Formats: sequence, C-alpha cells, structure tokens
Amino acid sequence: MPTPQLLKFIKNILIQGTVIKSTGSWYIVRRTDTQAIVQCRIVGKFRLENMVLTNPVAVGDIVQFAIESEGKGMIKKIMPRTNYVARQSPRRKHDVHLLASNIDQALLFVTIVEPSLKQGFIDRFLLTTEPQEIPTIIGFNKADLYDADDKAIYENMKAIYEKIGYTVLLISATEGVGLDALTTLLTNKITMISGQSGVGKSSVVNGIQPEMTLKTGDISDYSGKGQHTTTFAEMHPLSFGGYLIDTPGIKTLAFNNLEPIQVAHNFREFFALSDDCRFGGTCLHRNEPNCAVLAALEREEISAIRYENYLQILEEVEDQNYWERHTDV
Ligand code: GDP
Repeated sequence: MPTPQLLKFIKNILIQGTVIKSTGSWYIVRRTDTQAIVQCRIVGKFRLENMVLTNPVAVGDIVQFAIESEGKGMIKKIMPRTNYVARQSPRRKHDVHLLASNIDQALLFVTIVEPSLKQGFIDRFLLTTEPQEIPTIIGFNKADLYDADDKAIYENMKAIYEKIGYTVLLISATEGVGLDALTTLLTNKITMISGQSGVGKSSVVNGIQPEMTLKTGDISDYSGKGQHTTTFAEMHPLSFGGYLIDTPGIKTLAFNNLEPIQVAHNFREFFALSDDCRFGGTCLHRNEPNCAVLAALEREEISAIRYENYLQILEEVEDQNYWERHTDV
C-alpha cells in the first residue's frame, strides 16, 4: 500500500496527453510519454473568448492531468490551443460547442448526387473553419455517379472554391478515384473530417485506411430547435502518419452564436475586399454606398452563389437577434 504522503505526491504530478475522445462526462486522453490511455474528468467552468462552452475540452486538446487511480485522471490544465472549431451548441443555441482543436486542416465531404448537393452547406461549413483560418479541403465524392450535368456543376464548384484558396478534390470511394491524392494531403497532418451523412465519408476513409471504422454518429438537427442525440468527435491515428478527427454527421448548421459582422468577415473574399468599402470593416455588403463587394459581384469577380448564401445566413442571424431584443422569453 502506498503511504498517504506518497499518494499525495503522485496526485500532484502533472502528466501531459492529448484528448482523443470525449463522451460528455469523461475524456479519453492518450499520454504523450507512454501513449497509454487514461480516462479523465474535469471540474469547474470554462470559457473561451467570452463564449459559454457546453463542453470545456475538445478532441485534440493538449492537457495536463493528475493521476487519481489506476487508469483514471483529473484534467488540471488545458494548454493554449493553436486553433479550434466551434459550432452553435445543439442544446443551447447561444452557447458554443467545441468540436476539435489543434488541427492542421479540415476536410469536408460532399457529393453532387445521392444525396443531391446542398451547396449552401459548403459555405456554412467554411464559416466554422474560417474564423481560425483553418485550411480546408472540399472532397466531392461519388464521382462515378456524375453525369455530364453533374460534372459541369463540379467544375463550377471547383472554380469557385479554388479561386478563393480552398483545395477541391474529386473522389470516388467505389472506383478509387482521388484516394492517392487524398492520402498525400492527409499524411502527417491532423485533419478534422466532416460531412452530412450518406455522402460516403466512411467509405472514403475505408478506401485509404481499410482497418479504420468510423463510429461517430449523427446529430440530426443543429438548428437549436429539436432533440438531439449527443455524439462526440474522435481522433484516429493514420498508419501512414497523421490523425483523423471524425466529427458527428450533421444536417444543418446554424450560427446564432455569431454577430452579422462576423459572418461578413468570414467570407474570406468579401473580407479581402472590405478595405475598399466606404464603410470598411463595418460594411455588411448589402446596400451600403461604395461597397467593393457589390461592385465585384457586378463584375462577376465574386461568386453569386456564395453571395446568396451569405445573405441567407446574415438574415437568419439578424432575425434571431431581432426576436431576442423584442421578446421577453
Ligand atoms: P457516410 O454516412 O458519409 O459515412 O456514408 P457511407 O460511407 O456510409 O456511404 C453511404 C452510401 O453511399 C453507401 O451505400 C455507400 O456504399 C455509398 N457510397 C459511398 N461512396 C461512394 C462512391 O464513391 N460511389 C458510389 N456510387 N457510392 C458510394
């Protein structure tokens, strides 16, 4: 039996590790020194840049914990994050749910058919990675099913997103298209992967890493209105170096946690132009005089589709703010 003094000494030693999974109340941490897995708890309230967090610790966080008993620990410190991805909480729409942190890049899977492309979703997803300037790859899967019209849509999407600096990749999990290129992009990187369910995320991951099974479930509705199954992200090592952080599948992304100006600033090509707007960084690019974004839209230098999606999100965020100011609920 260790003496009480020895136990006290052990409990004061801080050990470093990476959070690889969270279940809500427990965090699964991989020790940096031995790679052993420890189940950790955390107590206390945590905030992030004044936002209320529904979960204080994200998958990808580097933490320091104290041993409590065999295989169990208490997180004492979260090391500064290089970046993070946060979404509006599925439970409380003004709170923020931390999805992943310390990532090198994000990979969004979409498809043009089966299910048909919800283009607006791409721009909504980018609104979750852009605030932290996380490089993002958009993978168009099920290429084997695309007819001539679908191919034209893909080429159009590719032109829109490559022009503003995102990586676009054509993939077919079934026929092995794009899998080598994807493997190269993922090697030695920590990549957060996401996609609406049914787009083939699991099939593509299996195509590049046959022994990996993704178990992360879906969140059926992120709009803050419905009931939700709580599911969490999970980090998986890649045999060729690097990690994938799998995130719950989602149907919709809402942004009640953002202010209108934050929406404007995170459409990167609009933000790049805003210096030339008469109202500069406060311009919402809607009907303001001498707006550089509207002028660029007129010259077809920025995508009309992106602009429409922008207006839609802006309206949702403003409606939300309006009702909050004018009701007592
Ligand atoms: P997830 O929900 O995004 O993980 O999607 P799954 O990997 O479970 O795939 C959903 C369905 O799409 C399954 O029936 C797959 O067989 C199918 N699927 C996935 N990738 C492809 C593909 O590249 N081409 C075709 N034709 N079907 C695919």
